[in-house]
Amino acid sequence: MPVETKTTCPYCGVGCGVVATVAEDGGVSVRGDPDHPSNYGRLCSKGSALAETIDLDGRILHPEIGGRQASWDEALDLVAGKFAAAIKEYGPDSVAFYVSGQLLTEDYYVANKLMKGFVGSANIDTNSRLCMSSSVAGHRRAFGADTVPGTYEDLELADLVVLAGSNLAWCHPVLYQRLAAAKAKRPGMKVVVIDPRRTMTADIADLHLAIRPDGDVALFAGLFSHLVAGDAVDQNYIAAHTSGFADAFLAAGRLSFAEVLERTGLPAMQLREFYRLFAETEKVVTCYSQGVNQSSSGTDKVNAILNCHLATGRIGRPGMGPFSLTGQPNAMGGREVGGLANMLAAHMALENADDRDRVQRFWRAPAVAQKPGLKAVDLFKAVGEGRIKALWIMATNPVVSMPDADAVAEALEACPFVAVSDVLGKTDTTRYAHVLLPSLGWGEKDGTVTNSERRISRQRAFLAAPGQARADWWQLAEVARRMGFADAFAYAAPADVFSEHAALSAFENDGRRDFDIGAHAGLARAAYEVLDPFQWPQPAGREPAESRFFGTGGFYHADGKARLVAVAPAETDRTDAAYPFTLNTGRIRDQWHTMTRTGKSARLSSHIAEPFAELHPRDAMEIGVGNAGLVEIESPQGRAVVRALITERQARGSIFAPMHWNDQFAARARIDAVVPAITDPFSGQPASKNVAVAARRF
Ligand code: SF4
Repeated sequence: MPVETKTTCPYCGVGCGVVATVAEDGGVSVRGDPDHPSNYGRLCSKGSALAETIDLDGRILHPEIGGRQASWDEALDLVAGKFAAAIKEYGPDSVAFYVSGQLLTEDYYVANKLMKGFVGSANIDTNSRLCMSSSVAGHRRAFGADTVPGTYEDLELADLVVLAGSNLAWCHPVLYQRLAAAKAKRPGMKVVVIDPRRTMTADIADLHLAIRPDGDVALFAGLFSHLVAGDAVDQNYIAAHTSGFADAFLAAGRLSFAEVLERTGLPAMQLREFYRLFAETEKVVTCYSQGVNQSSSGTDKVNAILNCHLATGRIGRPGMGPFSLTGQPNAMGGREVGGLANMLAAHMALENADDRDRVQRFWRAPAVAQKPGLKAVDLFKAVGEGRIKALWIMATNPVVSMPDADAVAEALEACPFVAVSDVLGKTDTTRYAHVLLPSLGWGEKDGTVTNSERRISRQRAFLAAPGQARADWWQLAEVARRMGFADAFAYAAPADVFSEHAALSAFENDGRRDFDIGAHAGLARAAYEVLDPFQWPQPAGREPAESRFFGTGGFYHADGKARLVAVAPAETDRTDAAYPFTLNTGRIRDQWHTMTRTGKSARLSSHIAEPFAELHPRDAMEIGVGNAGLVEIESPQGRAVVRALITERQARGSIFAPMHWNDQFAARARIDAVVPAITDPFSGQPASKNVAVAARRF
C-alpha cells in the first residue's frame, strides 16, 4: 500500500504543506496538502518538483576526514577536540558556527544552546543574516520584539496590497497565487508594486513604481509626511500606543516633495497616486522582502514602512498591517531559538542581564555569552584574519552566497579547522572542509519549521536515512557530549528538543515576551508525531487559534508602546565612471539558493538553464552585447561571466543577475564574488541590491 506523509516544503518562507506519497515500488510523488492553512493544497513549480530532487547523486554517505572515509566516532572526536583545544588556548570567541535557515528549529536550538550557553560565545550566525536581519532589527526597534503582526489571510482581506522590494510571483509563488485569486474575485482590490525592475509580479499591479535603488526610505518618509499633512493618521492610536511621533514627523518633514521625487526617481503623478491610495484606504497591507532588507539602509527602510502603519493604526487587524516576507523555510524558527549572533533564545535579548540570567538558569549552563557575537560578514572577516581557529558550517554554502565570496573562500582556505555538515559531498564550500559530516536531507529529517506568518509546521521523514547520514541536532549533541556537556544535551529524538524549546519560551514569561509556545512544553513524542500546523503565540492553556498582534497596542517595550523611528534617507548611489552600472541580485522562479537540490530537476532547469544578467536594450547596445551573448560583470571585489538577457523590464543603467549559479556549474558563475561586503549598520545585513559594477562584452 502507498504510504502518505504530511510534511512541509523546504524552500521559501511561504511554508506550504506537502503530502509525500511513497508507492509500493519506492517511487515518491508529492502534492499540496489541502488541509494546510498556509497553502490549502497549492504548490509552486519548485514544490511540485520535490520528488525529482531526492536521489542520492552526489550525496555524502559517511563522515570524511581530509577526504578519506572515517567513522562517526573519529570525526566527532576530532570536531570536539579541535573546538575544545581552541577554546582552551584562545578563549570561547576563537570558535564559531555558521548555520542556516535550512536547518530545522530543533537543529538550530541545539546549535544555539551549545554555542551561547556552553561554549560561552555568541559567535553563531546564520545565512538568515543575508535574508531577514533588517526586518528583525526594524521589528525590535519599533515593537520591542521580532514580531510579524499579521497573517497571510490579511493579503486576501486587504483593499490595497503594497509589495515593496518583493517579486512575490517568483519568490513566494503560492502567496502570490492567493493574492492574485483574491484580486480576481474582488477586482476593486488594488496592488502597488515598488521595484526598480518590472518583474512578473508587476503584471498584476495597478501601479508599478520603478523606484531608484534604495529610494524606499525617502518614499515612505514622504508618505508619512503626506499622511500627517492630510490628517490621515489615527491620533487616538498614536497617543495610546506609540511614542516618538514628533521626532519621526520632524525627520520626515525635512524632506520636500521635490527631494522625494529626486531620491525615488518617480514621476510626480505616480507618487501622488500611491500616496492618495494609501491615505484613502483603511485596509492596507505592506509586504516587504529582500529589496527592503538587503540594503545598507535596510533597517531604516523597515522602520519607515512600520511608521506609516503605526501612525494610521493599521496594524494587527484583519486586512491591515506591515508584513515581512521571510525568504527561507525556517528563517523565523532560527530567530525564535536565537540563531542570530545578536539574539539570545526564545526572543530574549542578549543585551538584557535578566534575560541572560533566565536562560542560564533554564539551561543550567556554565557560561552564557555576555555580548553579541560576530555577524556573518564580520565572522568571515575574522576567519580571514586568523581570529577564528575552529569553524563549523551547517547546511549552507557561503562560498557561493556570501558577499565578497572569493574572500570567503580565501578565509576558509586559511582557517586552521573547518567542519562542514551537508548533504552533498562536493560544493564550493565543502572543498575547504577538514571534516565533512553527512547530514539528513528533506524527506529524511524530522523537526519543525516556522513560516512567514508565524506558523509552526512539522517536516517529517518518509525516507530511510541514506548511508551513515545523521541529523544535525544529533551531530551537535554528540560534539557537546564529547566536550563534557552530556547531561544538558541528552536528547534522544527531535521531540525532546522541541519540548525543551517550548518550555524555554514560557519560562518566566508571563506575557512579557511575544514568543510563547508553552502549550507544547513537555509534549510527548507521540503527540509531536501528529502535531498539526499552528501559529504562535500558543501559551499554555489556550486553544490553537489564528492570531494577530498589536491591533489594540500591547507592544513589548517596557512602557507597552511602539516606537515611531526618525529615519532619513542616505545617499546610496555607488556608481562612478569606472563602475557605471547598478547590479541587483536575486532569485528566479525555479531555482533555490545555490541549486544543490533544484539543480537536480531537469524540469526546473528548463525554465532558465544558465546564469544570466538582464540588461536594458540600450545598455546592451552600448556595450556591444547581443541577446545570449556573454557579458562580464566586474567590481573591485571580483567578476562573473554570464549570458545577456536583453529586456525592457530592466531599467537603464541597472543589471539584474540571479544568485543561484556556482562554480560547480561553470567557472566564474558566482555573482556574489562581485558583491562587496557593505552592510546595514543596525542589522549587519549585506547590501546585495545596489552594487556598482562595470559590464562589458566577454
Ligand atoms: Fe515551496 Fe514556497 Fe513553492 Fe510553497 S511557494 S511550494 S513553500 S517554494
